[in-house]
Amino acid sequence: MKIFNEDTIVAIATPCGEGGIGIVRLSGKKSMAIADKIFFSKTKTKPSLFKSHTMHHGYIRNPQTKKISDEVMLAVMRAPLSYTKEDTIEINCHSGEAALKNIVNLLLKYGARLAEPGEFTKRAFLNGRLDLTQAEAVLDIIKAKTERELEASLVQLRGKLSIEIKNIKREIFDVYSHIEAMLDFSDQNIAVMAKKEIQTKCAKALNSLKKLSSTFQEGKVIKNGMKCVIYGKPNVGKSTLMNAFLKEERAIVTEFAGTTRDIISEQVIIGGIVINLFDTAGIKKPDNIIEEKSINKTNEICENADIVLFMLDNNKKIIKKDLILFSKIKCRNIILIINKIDLPQKIDLRLIKQVFKNQAIVLVSAKKEKNINNLIEKIKNIAFKNFPKNSDKNLIVTNMRHKILIDESINYLDNGFNNFKKDSALDLVAADFKKSLDCLSEILGEAFTDELLDNIFSNFCIGK
Ligand code: GDP
Repeated sequence: MKIFNEDTIVAIATPCGEGGIGIVRLSGKKSMAIADKIFFSKTKTKPSLFKSHTMHHGYIRNPQTKKISDEVMLAVMRAPLSYTKEDTIEINCHSGEAALKNIVNLLLKYGARLAEPGEFTKRAFLNGRLDLTQAEAVLDIIKAKTERELEASLVQLRGKLSIEIKNIKREIFDVYSHIEAMLDFSDQNIAVMAKKEIQTKCAKALNSLKKLSSTFQEGKVIKNGMKCVIYGKPNVGKSTLMNAFLKEERAIVTEFAGTTRDIISEQVIIGGIVINLFDTAGIKKPDNIIEEKSINKTNEICENADIVLFMLDNNKKIIKKDLILFSKIKCRNIILIINKIDLPQKIDLRLIKQVFKNQAIVLVSAKKEKNINNLIEKIKNIAFKNFPKNSDKNLIVTNMRHKILIDESINYLDNGFNNFKKDSALDLVAADFKKSLDCLSEILGEAFTDELLDNIFSNFCIGK
């Protein structure tokens, strides 16, 4: 493992490009000494003499050439009261590429090295300021696209998940240590803790872990959004609906490449969740719509969809092909959309209600943007229905790594508990409890490997 604390690291902490302020961050033992060399102020006081958590006006200047890089405000945060728990300097300069790079180059010249992605946060973790779930929350906050995602990440950063995991760990550890003691004193036939008490504690821990695990269903939606496919015959109005969504929900996040060549996809935020919209308008085979290839493609797109919006034309009679298409959709959540309600009704609504009974049906005009809000409400309902009741609304597991480890921990605990109830050999029971505890330790980062840390922190940007 590298010894992180020996180096003093530097990086631009703000996004590159023209902007009001850019920040260069310096962290490590030599921060003050390096800053002393390149910071000049009217008072001639050097950063190493500044009080911690103060900010000072001055200039960054090459001490050899006397060339000024920028006029800056310099902040000093001394260890351990800084993000990394190390001596830290933050230089607020003008956010021009040349100014920022000049300052970084000077800092490199005078003894710093360029930070790796996420290295400031990695140091915060390695120096014990954050546990691993909190460090991961920092990344989630940076990447959060919606309020909900931000909220869940902030709760994690404040340590709520860690506290819950630690509480559960304490419960399991209590049981584990008693069983170990029973093993150690087996010849004296000592039951350190009553069997009933052990069972109660196990059941309680198991229950808490299962509750936590169940929040991931919601967490996954909060973090990854939902896949929503608009499907129907050509010209029913799929692209127009897509545009109506994009207009209605102004917060377009990004455009992203579709998984299939013919599919157009966009991201919108509907009701606080990212909805990845897929418009299958590209599948245009008007004369041969139910040909096998198209249907295969539909299946492929709809297979992993969270919601399929199946669209029919209000101005056209329903035909057998429509029903065949519908029957091919394999998705739990389908909303039937009757579009073009601004045109004369030719579709037989009574028949539709008979055929698509138990199906959510929404009548809209995508072109006139009528009733789109109603459709959005339906999508929201589906997005957040079926989530297990969460007693602590704020504590939601959003991270796949945590979910996997929680489930592993449940399996070991469950196994150990069952063996204990069956009076199996206590060393086997203890081994399972130990593994269950190890999984929880791994979530918190009490046990970690370089590979795990590299995996987590390489997703960060440089400067964080
Ligand atoms: P797609 O092939 O399913 O994507 O259909 P489009 O979105 O391209 O729409 C086909 C045609 O129907 C276009 O001329 C649209 O302007 C029109 N259209 C779509 N929605 C409506 C609507 O609600 N009312 C009316 N009158 N026309 C619509």
